[in-house]
Amino acid sequence: MIIGHEKIIYFLQKSVDNDKLSHAYLFCGPEHLGKTIIAENFLFKILCEQKNKPDAFLEKNTMGKCGKCIHCQQLEKNIHPDVYFINKEENKKNITIEQIRILQEKLIKHSFYGSYKIILINQADALSLEAANYLLKSLGEPNPKTIFILIAENIKSLPKTIISRMQILKFLPVATEEIVDYFEKQFNLKTEQALELAKISINKPGLAITFFQNKNLLDKHKKQIQEFIDFPQKNLNEKFQLIEKILPTKNGFLKNVKILQNILSQLDLIIRDLILIKNSLNTFIIHSFLENKLEKLVQKYSENQLIQILKAIKKSKEYLLVNANPKLVFENLILKI
Ligand SMILES: [Zn+2]
Repeated sequence: MIIGHEKIIYFLQKSVDNDKLSHAYLFCGPEHLGKTIIAENFLFKILCEQKNKPDAFLEKNTMGKCGKCIHCQQLEKNIHPDVYFINKEENKKNITIEQIRILQEKLIKHSFYGSYKIILINQADALSLEAANYLLKSLGEPNPKTIFILIAENIKSLPKTIISRMQILKFLPVATEEIVDYFEKQFNLKTEQALELAKISINKPGLAITFFQNKNLLDKHKKQIQEFIDFPQKNLNEKFQLIEKILPTKNGFLKNVKILQNILSQLDLIIRDLILIKNSLNTFIIHSFLENKLEKLVQKYSENQLIQILKAIKKSKEYLLVNANPKLVFENLILKI
């Protein structure tokens, strides 16, 4: 089941129906929006034998698949011989050139079913520069029966030469109404509950579903937000203790960068809520379950101060992109809040 992204789905369906497939696609956008699920559906759409079957999308938001042919069955089990998945190996920093080399060897061979060979690269932004350049060879000399699908959160780390050879599909957060509609229809949720899920997941359908299925995780998330809201009340010593708790040194650099990136996005939303409250636009706030606390907190700041904090958060995000030490970045920011 896919939520939202109608234009992208329509585009992909039409490119199969009209036999106008690109040799390389780049699905890009933040996590939890549905890039992977759409890419997987796209595989079915390309390979399923019943090509002319009416698309189920209009009714069920899935791309057409019969579910019975050999392709559908093998895709379902993740054992289709003409589909290759490349993922970053655990504990490795990058997708390595070795992984791409092994892939190239497989691509030289004929397709098992005489149809398309499809390569799905997850976290393509983690391709090492060497691996990306090696991959570029395949993109530069496209084989008409080979299709690359790259999934990436941040395309800045991909060489421009790769991006320019791909059909780019940008994923944006899904409209609140679409997420609300999904939960109302699929799970009989009341509008109020569905709206809370849409808001707290910042219009990311994947996250909304995770929160819906895992109440513990949702509670933990809410608790963390609560902690941030209490943050300005704490003294300097308490603040620094909390930083160590959130970003323990033993985590290592990359893990702490990822954690801090999420925290910065969360802080950003809290400050935006405060600005909305400052302007009496409470109905639009994301963290409505904490409205009372936010109402109190907002009195500590002028609107201009809040805007300055937003700028400082943005700056912190930029520092992380150029490999600054996450703990220092966070400490620096905290002093300004
Ligand atoms: Zn099929």
